[in-house]
Amino acid sequence: MRGTVASLAAELAAGSVSAVELATEALARAQASPLNAFITLDPERTLAEARAADALRAAGQAGPLTGIPIAQKDIFCAEGWRTTAGSKMLGNFVAPYDATVVARGKAAGLVTIGRANMDEFAMGSTNENSAFGPVHNPWDITRVPGGSSGGSAAAVAAGIVPAATGTDTGGSIRQPAGFCGITGIKPTYGVVSRYGMIAYASSLDQGGPMARTAQDCAMLLNAMAGFDARDATSLPRDAEDYTRDLDRPLDGLRVGVPRGWLADGVSADVRAAVEAGIVQLETLGAKRVEVDLPHAQYAIAAYYVIAPAEASSNLSRYDGVRYGHRAADYTDLAEMYARSRSEGFGAEVQRRILVGTYVLSAGYYDAYYLKAQQVRRRIADDFAAAFAQCDIIAGPIAPTVAYKLGEKTADPVQMYLGDVYTTLVNLAGLPALSLPCGFGEGGMPVGLQLIGGAFSEARLLNVAHRFQQATDHHLQTPGGAA
Ligand code: GLN
Repeated sequence: MRGTVASLAAELAAGSVSAVELATEALARAQASPLNAFITLDPERTLAEARAADALRAAGQAGPLTGIPIAQKDIFCAEGWRTTAGSKMLGNFVAPYDATVVARGKAAGLVTIGRANMDEFAMGSTNENSAFGPVHNPWDITRVPGGSSGGSAAAVAAGIVPAATGTDTGGSIRQPAGFCGITGIKPTYGVVSRYGMIAYASSLDQGGPMARTAQDCAMLLNAMAGFDARDATSLPRDAEDYTRDLDRPLDGLRVGVPRGWLADGVSADVRAAVEAGIVQLETLGAKRVEVDLPHAQYAIAAYYVIAPAEASSNLSRYDGVRYGHRAADYTDLAEMYARSRSEGFGAEVQRRILVGTYVLSAGYYDAYYLKAQQVRRRIADDFAAAFAQCDIIAGPIAPTVAYKLGEKTADPVQMYLGDVYTTLVNLAGLPALSLPCGFGEGGMPVGLQLIGGAFSEARLLNVAHRFQQATDHHLQTPGGAA
């Protein structure tokens, strides 16, 4: 399926294809794919959703997305679908209700092709932490697709589906989008409801769309975003049309490039592609300015204190009592808890729980957790100061192109360091987007990151759309796979 959301929507509206036909094609591709992009396929359920979409259209009630096939990250609860969050702990969990993102997608007529593979509880940068096996990058199956939304990114890049949902706690929409050569946006914290989105680090988690183009992301964000009374951190704002500014010219746009971001820490191929991307923005009328983010260097340290701290609290609910995995053998309650959690959680999740409980413990709280929260404040202040001098910030998504499978698994800290350009955005709660800006080592895609001030999603999508109208990186597709 090489169409975009926009082009398939036009075909659906013209009646030249039906939702059932699109779903059937996507299912066949998903089933034949060697990428392991899906944890669960349920063709009957998918086709029922597709028939409902066709019925809606026949009744004259179709919206712009009715009948569009998507991959749903396996972190969004969806009634009747097995919802695992990539964990053995939830291997047998069938969600009894819809996350708000799922409910809104259904109301818009989106058709779920399957549940996209992901790092366990969204903890990871390569999708190698999934209890259901790693996902392969369609551009080179010996490489990772990025994480944690690796199945979503691979499924879109491979042309199985035109779009997918993702979540981004420290980069998990943007980094797999970058590694797989697609477009993805992490909205401002509070714009997309977290209700029914299995929690990793609640003050950082944010859902968002992944697709081939910025225009598609805008269309999907229209369906996903908006106030939800069931999420206490959802922001009460008027609904927006994120497609409204797509064609706005970029004349006079001030693009801030953080000092040092294109220096030592980034590989030469990524630097060249990102530099070319910034030059492209200048060609479109933008003006490059240098900005400073002096506390950015502490973002990874702060993130890897705060995220595990929140995770250790969120994951305490998986105790073998209420739902999820329960050990078969135990003698008393304490042993049942311990065995269920030891068996149900993978190594990285257990590592994060240990780190999280440690930094929250009475003796270390001030030294680690409190300090990390202070750094978080400083990073937000840095961004506020930078946005006095520029309209958006541009830079890399990751220091290199996609890693080889297994390259980073032996040393978790090495993997964490790959999040150097993404985690700070979540710490500040800001929106940011990844779009393809060229190719690097091994012919692998390189992502350009655009970061904006709070609620600047429409502007970011506008900049990315103009960029994509002038370039063809996003139109390239991996040969062979899928
Ligand atoms: N790689 C980061 C982590 O492992 C970010 C993951 C995410 O955004 N969910 O925590």
